Amino acid sequence: MKIINNNDYKPVISLIFMDYEQLLNEAYSKVKKPEGNGERFEIPKIEGHFEGKKTILSNFYQIASYIRRTPEHFQKFLLRELAVSGQKEGDRLVLNNKIPSARINQKVEEYVKEFVLCNECGKPDTELVKEDRFAFVKCLACGAKHSVRSKF
Ligand SMILES: [Zn+2]
Repeated sequence: MKIINNNDYKPVISLIFMDYEQLLNEAYSKVKKPEGNGERFEIPKIEGHFEGKKTILSNFYQIASYIRRTPEHFQKFLLRELAVSGQKEGDRLVLNNKIPSARINQKVEEYVKEFVLCNECGKPDTELVKEDRFAFVKCLACGAKHSVRSKF
């Protein structure tokens, strides 16, 4: 076995280090490429099933927290838009009718587009602000504000 002295050893180390640094830089440039849009937001899809004449939505409240809106507001919108009554049962939302998931997902998408995404920059980092009889979606990323329906 060859004995390695310090002089032999150092260049090997620095070569590995350079490669590693290069790899890191490449990794960063890959992540950064879609400028300012690194974290892609996707509108969540509802999960559920029918039980008799009811529709059980198992991830409704998870979606509410994911899009950072109150469950009350999101629920009121969905029930009204689907023209169905419903109630919270444990961590599930139960609709008192059979509603196909495609219709529900369409409403979830409409909700996110109106009450979550910023009209200017398209980001979901927003808050819903109520002022008197009016409601706004205020963007925390770019500061833009757009008015939304306040009846929900
Ligand atoms: Zn914005």
